[in-house]
Amino acid sequence: STERLPPHVVLLASPGAGHLIPLAELARRLVDHQGFAATLVTFTDLSSPEALSGVPACVATAALPPVPLDDLPAGTSMSTVLLELIRRSLPSLRALLRSVGAPLAALVPDFFCSAALPLAAELGVPGYVFMPSNLTALVVMRAAVELHDGVPPGEYRDLPDPLELPGGVSLCHADLPPSFQSSGEPVYAHLLEEGRRYRRADGFLVNTFYEVEPATVEEFKLAAKRGAFPPVFPVGPFVRPGTSSDEAAGASACLDWLDLQPTGSVVYVSFGSGGSLTVEQTAELAAGLEASGHRFLWVVRMPNLDGGNDGRDRDDDNPNPLAWLPDGFLERTADKGLAVAAWAPQVRVLSHPATAVFVSHCGWNSTLESVSAGVPMVAWPLYAEQRMNAVALVGSVGVALPLRPREADGVVARDEIAGAVKELMESAEKGRAVRRQAGDLQQAAARAWSPEGSSRRALEEVAATWKKATLGKVK
Ligand code: UDP
Repeated sequence: STERLPPHVVLLASPGAGHLIPLAELARRLVDHQGFAATLVTFTDLSSPEALSGVPACVATAALPPVPLDDLPAGTSMSTVLLELIRRSLPSLRALLRSVGAPLAALVPDFFCSAALPLAAELGVPGYVFMPSNLTALVVMRAAVELHDGVPPGEYRDLPDPLELPGGVSLCHADLPPSFQSSGEPVYAHLLEEGRRYRRADGFLVNTFYEVEPATVEEFKLAAKRGAFPPVFPVGPFVRPGTSSDEAAGASACLDWLDLQPTGSVVYVSFGSGGSLTVEQTAELAAGLEASGHRFLWVVRMPNLDGGNDGRDRDDDNPNPLAWLPDGFLERTADKGLAVAAWAPQVRVLSHPATAVFVSHCGWNSTLESVSAGVPMVAWPLYAEQRMNAVALVGSVGVALPLRPREADGVVARDEIAGAVKELMESAEKGRAVRRQAGDLQQAAARAWSPEGSSRRALEEVAATWKKATLGKVK
């Protein structure tokens, strides 16, 4: 009988490794700590095999069959394509939910798949939305929906500039995620649609922890009490453990090199899976690192060539990002730095004792990895929600120093880079305060998942309601 099988949680990941990795980690904890069975559902062809190979063995995976999208007009925005994909996949998700062969305990779509929530209601199980990012992102979403309460459908308004957030964080328009910057773009309408569905969620599981955004957690508690928003549970940080697949990619070169460096001496530089700099900006960064005089490990990605090729002769079939570094840079810095092409085993690099500072694009996974390792950051946001994250990390959270781009051309100049790195590595004032805060936050992150920790207890609380609901139905 199905009563003997553990209750089953189905989690739905929108495309993108940055969404899949933390959701897989949530699934693992539901299995390991709470005794659920879990299936992580993805969309065929849209999740990289690498990301899927990192899903823990105790979590089952399933891919929804592809759906035709070729009827969408050419030039349809990416957000429209994604939402349409999710909508058209709902019948196969329904079939999958009906076939799990055990009592269904909950459906957990991630933040971009809330169109699946009505299926939870239809099957009479709790529907909880997972936020791979932080509460600030959820506040912005909520603010947009509130702004459009009572506004006729099809009419859109821009968010206030600046947008005041709990905890005294003030977000100017340019710091909002681009999708929220212009109410005229199709993606804005889609996000509103998404955000309106959020109100019907039974709750939110968020990849953050109390000490990162305490004022926002409190604010959401009050909103839930008023019945103005579903309850929000900070259950993170979910940081992917450094895995053995790291070895495969030639990662040991980085770790071997770090082993040879003194404790707390290395500046790690990386812009995530999608961030790339212009050729000019790459040259400034190289000069800045060199001028700082500190050791560095730099993950160099292919430059973005919007600004034009500099005319050098390179092999386009074998793109080598290191070929775009300034002449002589690698030779001059050979005893101080290591530049690696495209990729480094970041979780291991950050937790290596030699690593002292992270020059980061402020992607949320990278941020949590840095925080969990106690490494202070130099915030260098590039796109998406990174600027918003940077504002909080520099401001209310206090674990990062900012970089100011030149007003004339938006380039971050070498002196600015060298200055921030030296401040964070050497200074007894600002740099020291940020280093200390990074240490404090690391301890708080570790506490969050200790036996009585806030995130662990929040997930236990949610799991208990799911189990109660399942029991009620099985009897
Ligand atoms: N990452 C890595 N090596 C690299 C670059 C990135 O292992 O050289 C991993 C990093 O540890 C993180 C993820 O890729 O888990 C990047 O996610 P994040 O949310 O920080 O940024 P995104 O890539 O989505 O912009």
